[in-house]
Amino acid sequence: MAYDIVVLGGGSGGYACALRAAELGKSVALIEKDKIGGTCLHRGCIPTKALLHSAEVADETRESESYGVKARFEGIDVQGVHAFKDKIVTRAWKGVQGLLKAAGVTIVEGEGRLVGAGRVQVGSEVYEGRNVVLATGSAPKSLPGLEIDGERVITSEHTLKMDRVPTSVIVLGGGVIGVELASVYRSFGAEVTIVEALPHLLPTEEESSSKLLERAFRRRGIKYELGVFFDSAKTTETGVVVTLANGKTLDAELLLVAVGRGAVSAGMGFEEQGIAIERGAVVVDEHCQTSVPGVYAIGDLIPTLQLAHAGFAEGIMVAEHIAGLNPPPIDYAGVPRITYSDPEVASVGLTSAQAAERGIETVEQVYDLAGNPKSQILGTAGAVKVIAEKGGRVVGVHMVGRRIGELVTEGQLIYNWEALPAEVAQLIHAHPTQSEAMGEAMLALAGKPLHVHN
Ligand SMILES: Cc1cc2nc3c(=O)[nH]c(=O)nc-3n(C[C@H](O)[C@H](O)[C@H](O)COP(=O)(O)OP(=O)(O)OC[C@H]3O[C@@H](n4cnc5c(N)ncnc54)[C@H](O)[C@@H]3O)c2cc1C
Repeated sequence: MAYDIVVLGGGSGGYACALRAAELGKSVALIEKDKIGGTCLHRGCIPTKALLHSAEVADETRESESYGVKARFEGIDVQGVHAFKDKIVTRAWKGVQGLLKAAGVTIVEGEGRLVGAGRVQVGSEVYEGRNVVLATGSAPKSLPGLEIDGERVITSEHTLKMDRVPTSVIVLGGGVIGVELASVYRSFGAEVTIVEALPHLLPTEEESSSKLLERAFRRRGIKYELGVFFDSAKTTETGVVVTLANGKTLDAELLLVAVGRGAVSAGMGFEEQGIAIERGAVVVDEHCQTSVPGVYAIGDLIPTLQLAHAGFAEGIMVAEHIAGLNPPPIDYAGVPRITYSDPEVASVGLTSAQAAERGIETVEQVYDLAGNPKSQILGTAGAVKVIAEKGGRVVGVHMVGRRIGELVTEGQLIYNWEALPAEVAQLIHAHPTQSEAMGEAMLALAGKPLHVHN
């Protein structure tokens, strides 16, 4: 069977590519061995955000008295939490399958293997494509000697099926997934300790954002061990004992391993067909072309940001590139990043350290959410920090606070449109909203601060 494009893997990257290609009049086969929607829809973004929303409801119920509302927190109904999460996932899953069918994409159920530059085999059938797009995603990693047993030592995937709220959890890894799930477990009532080898939680974020998150987590009773390596873990009848490289031991009912995700690139014929792979990830150029002409790779399979919307963007870019539309390469610094914990951490553009590395002389403004009435109503501490070139455009926006993630949309328009602080300061922000914190930071950078205490 011959198609214009054969896409291997129906996650965020793969299905976005298939949809855009079909829209551009291409015939597309989309091969998926499990469920269309991939990690993001079934094991990642959507189910974890549903858990985080249940977590928020639990916390708001506990705090209801401070809002003058009489409610009593009686506990977490784990089955109810799953039912809520699964309803959201199922609806979106049906939606995306409907979209693909309506667009005329041929969905092939089965495990694919690259058997030639334009040939993917599924069972006894070979699907030929003038172009092939590899989008096989990623899977949780572990550490040497640390066995994931799914009982005491688990990954995010097991969390999504948990049958109880554990009394205590050690979270290995203070990146996005570790931080989000630590937040969920704490809100559900568990004792939580995060172990992170680097000096801060969310080590790729602006350091001041990490510090604000650490302060908020400390207040929430989430403990952390920073700048210390994991040494070993031993399961016992009641839980797990973790030894750190500094000799300290921690014990808990569960060990959640969240040390990152590795590209799924082995055992599918990629290397045999000459696709260059480095440290497990497929090597691509700025248009996601691999070392083999006519074969592209996108999403978590390549060493770019492991985010669903980065995968969507890569899929769309590849479809347009194949269709000859000459799309511009993606500016990855302009891709917004959100950690959906309580509080949320959101950013777009460069950190101060990255700006310094690029030799950019910068000015910064931090607007504390203590001065933002909407944030006070929501009961959150945090800040909006804006970094601009001296006398020039905004190069970075970094935010911490409950629900602050929604504000990153404004941040990304500002960054990607290369706006000057004075231009943004001219725009009026609705009162009372959290977006006023962004407006206030811009007013201050433009030399006309309004509600700023210095
Ligand atoms: C717990 C967690 C939370 C996350 N939260 C967020 C978030 O809030 N926001 C965000 O932007 N990102 C989030 N992510 C990341 C996001 O899920 C990924 O970046 C995204 O799913 C990557 O998309 P992809 O298409 O590259 O790969 P995947 O979504 O992993 O899809 C790959 C697909 O390929 C299929 N496949 C693999 N091999 C074959 C084969 N040989 N034949 C056929 N099919 C095959 C798989 O079954 C899978 O469906 C989260 C991830 C996790 C784990």
